[in-house]
Amino acid sequence: MRALPRLDSVNRDFWTGGELGELRILHCADCDQFIHPPRPVCRHCLSENLKSKAVSGNGVIDTFTINHQQWHPQMDVPFVIARVALDDAPGVYLTTNIVGCDVSEVDIGDQVQVTFLQQDDVFLPIFEKVAK
Ligand SMILES: [Zn+2]
Repeated sequence: MRALPRLDSVNRDFWTGGELGELRILHCADCDQFIHPPRPVCRHCLSENLKSKAVSGNGVIDTFTINHQQWHPQMDVPFVIARVALDDAPGVYLTTNIVGCDVSEVDIGDQVQVTFLQQDDVFLPIFEKVAK
């Protein structure tokens, strides 16, 4: 169980794209930049001409930390909290979890691929290491 985001018209595509296996990032049609976290106005050019775009879901671990603290009884520790830089959305970093491997196998620069964890109507984007 995790605290789930509140869905609204601006962030809904990001949190529900996983239903179709899509990682969707808000993109500005005027200045061609990606915007994350989702917001109603482009942070680069103040345009409101924003649309979600599905990206590949490939990325690289930019930085990470291993959490050993059990915040609540249902939580499995340790786990990895990472910042992932998306390959095809320059400047976008997702704070996420790395799953599917031992925490000792995670390193900065590792290539990762998105997967989704469904909780209620939200699909949390989390990442797995890409086998080399
Ligand atoms: Zn813009």
